[in-house]
Formats: sequence, structure tokens, C-alpha cells
Amino acid sequence: MHIPYSLLKVSIPPVLWRDPEVFHQAHRVVAVHLAMFVWVPVFVAIYSALSAPIGAMVVLAAGAGVIVSLSLLRLVKSPALCGHTLSFIAWWTYTALTLITGGPTAPVVVWYASIPIMSLLLSGATAGHVWTTASALAIAGIALAPKFGFHYWNELTPEAEEILRFTGLLGILTCVYVLVLVLKNVENRGRLALQQINRHLELQASMDSLTGIANRRLFDQTFEQEWKRHERTVLPLSVAMMDIDSFKQFNDMSGHLAGDICLRSVAQVIQACLHRPGDFVARFGGEEFAVILPDTNEEEAARLFDEIRCQVKSMKIPHPSSSISPCVTISVGCATTIPMRDESHLDFLREADMALYRAKANGRDQVVHVAVIPLGIA
Ligand code: GH3
Ligand code: MG
Ligand code: MG
Repeated sequence: MHIPYSLLKVSIPPVLWRDPEVFHQAHRVVAVHLAMFVWVPVFVAIYSALSAPIGAMVVLAAGAGVIVSLSLLRLVKSPALCGHTLSFIAWWTYTALTLITGGPTAPVVVWYASIPIMSLLLSGATAGHVWTTASALAIAGIALAPKFGFHYWNELTPEAEEILRFTGLLGILTCVYVLVLVLKNVENRGRLALQQINRHLELQASMDSLTGIANRRLFDQTFEQEWKRHERTVLPLSVAMMDIDSFKQFNDMSGHLAGDICLRSVAQVIQACLHRPGDFVARFGGEEFAVILPDTNEEEAARLFDEIRCQVKSMKIPHPSSSISPCVTISVGCATTIPMRDESHLDFLREADMALYRAKANGRDQVVHVAVIPLGIA
């Protein structure tokens, strides 16, 4: 049910474009109105050719009703009401045609089956109940009337009746097809919305809300993946643990809100120093950050981590209570290795963590680097 953009613009008032749900409903209403416009000339021609001028006039009147109904969409701005109008037009047309073409044996009787589909599709569940009940009552009345002595008039010849019976079946076939198509559409839209929500949740679950960089959960996943990838490629992998020096004193002196701002700034500086696509930084915990540098050897890693340390210092965030420097500094412990299959990535991370302790013990504001030689090579 794809309608050209210009037709939508003409038929659907801009106020209905804002809410996606209302827009989709209006979209369906316009689509069914347009289908009815095609239906009108075809059936006027068929009834005329079958020498049933009153039938042709009933269909013409239905066409006029469809024009009024579509105009309502622009005036009253409620797609649901237009759906009701269209369901009423269909109900009225089928009843009138049934009354003038033989009653219970009229070929048009099968068309009533399209009313539940149309009303439900265009105006929702309540409209579905109302117009299905109205159709059932009309059918029951038409079936029972002859039992009470009522005789229907029939404008059609037996051959014309036969031809119209086939058009009725074709109509039902089309309605069922449209129903399945719409259900498929709804299912696809639902699946897409769910995928989007899942992606959003996944992203949220992997992000640290304070600093906006990856969190510990994503670090654990990425580190294990990189370790396995490097086992295959046999290339060096570097990792670093970074910790802000005397941060407790910073908080005590400047307050936790200033501490938060400082954490954010440090995270941004580290992120800005990482240029290769695979380079990765995460907030490991409190005021600790972890960096992964794939395919990076000892010299390159040591150079980059020292650059990060210098960049943090050059922000010159005042830290009057620090005994190391008048501004905020970090200590870095890093390790480089070529991952081997029988070794553990957690042991490797522990090496970087121990190097960080050494950087702290040596006086802070420095990088301590260890090259972990794989057992297979040593
Ligand atoms: P060291 O140089 O040995 O690392 O000393 P430190 O004071 O930095 O280390 P310590 O582990 O004693 O203190 C870490 C501080 O980090 C304590 C805690 O208040 C602060 N911290 C942890 N997470 C946050 C946070 O999200 N926001 C703020 N503002 N502070 C935090
Ligand atoms: Mg710490
Ligand atoms: Mg610290």
C-alpha cells in the first residue's frame, strides 16, 4: 500500500504528520479511499454493461460518498472518523445493491466480508465490532425477509448474476490478500521497532553514563575478543591501566561534582589521543581507565601512553592538595605481549595492574611498562 508522497501531502493535513501512529492510520485511510476510486468506475461500467442502471447509480453514489469521506480527512483531521465513513459507505452500497439484485442470492452479498477487514484496518477494534455487527444484522435481515413474505426485486439477468458472482469472489480474494499484506507490514514494523529498542538498550548497557565512554562490561568483552584475535594473528597486544593520582584528596578539596567533571575531562583526553580504529578506552572503575591497543608493540604503546599522561597534565586542572604536582596527573601501568593459546588474558591484565602499582610506588605521574614474554617464546 505505497502511496506517492505528493498524494499524501494533498490528502493528509500536516498536523497528522507529527504522530507516526496517526500518520500510518491516515496513510491506510487514503490508500483504501484511492482503491475505492478505482473500484467505482470499474463497477459502474460492469453494471451498465450488464443492463443494470440502478446498480450503476448506486455505485456512482458510493463514489460521491468516497469523495466526501476523503474531504473529511482534511477538514476534521481524524483518520478514524474517515474510516467509519468509508465503512458506512461500503455497508450502505452492499445493502442497496443486495436489495435491487435478488436479496439473499445477490452476488454482492459476499462483499460484506470486506467490511470487518476495512473497519478494523482503518478505525480500530471498536469500529471493527460496530461494522461487523451491522453487516451481520444486514445479512440476517436479507436472509430472513423472504420468510416473512418479502419479495426482492432483481435488476440482473441470470447471466449477469453469474458474471457478478465471479467479481464478488475476486473482491474477497483481494481483501484477504490486502489483510495478509497489512499484517505482514505491521509485523515488520514491530520487528524493526524492537530491533531499534534492543540496539539502544545494548548501547546503554555498554556505556558509562558519567564519562560517555565504554564501561567495564564492554571492556571485558572487547579485551577477550582482542586477546583471541591476537592469538590467531600472532601480533603484539598492549593494554594499560590508568589511575588519577590522589583523586580522593581532589574530591575532598574540590567536591564530588568537580571530581565528576575532572573524570569526564580525563576520559575525553584519553579518547582524543587514540587514533587507530581498534584503539579502545573504557572506564574500568572509580577513577581508573583501561586502554587496549591492538597490533601495537612495546615502543609504540609506551610512547602513546606517555603522550596520554602528558596530555592529562597539560589540561592543568588545579589540584592544590596533590603532593606530586599542582595539577591533576595520572599514573599508568601497561603491558605488551603476543597472546598465546594456553595463556590467560586476565593474567596479562594483572601484569598491567601490577605495573600501575609500581608507577604509584615510584612516585606517581609516570608510565611503567612491562613486556610480557609469552611462555612459548621464552
Ligand atoms: P592514588 O593516587 O593512590 O590513586 O590515590 P587516590 O586518592 O586516587 O585513590 P583512592 O582509591 O584512595 O581514591 C579514589 C577516589 O576516587 C575515591 C572516590 O571518592 C573517587 N571516585 C571514584 N569514583 C568516583 C566518581 O564517579 N566521581 C567522583 N567524583 N569521585 C569518584
Ligand atoms: Mg584507584
Ligand atoms: Mg587514584
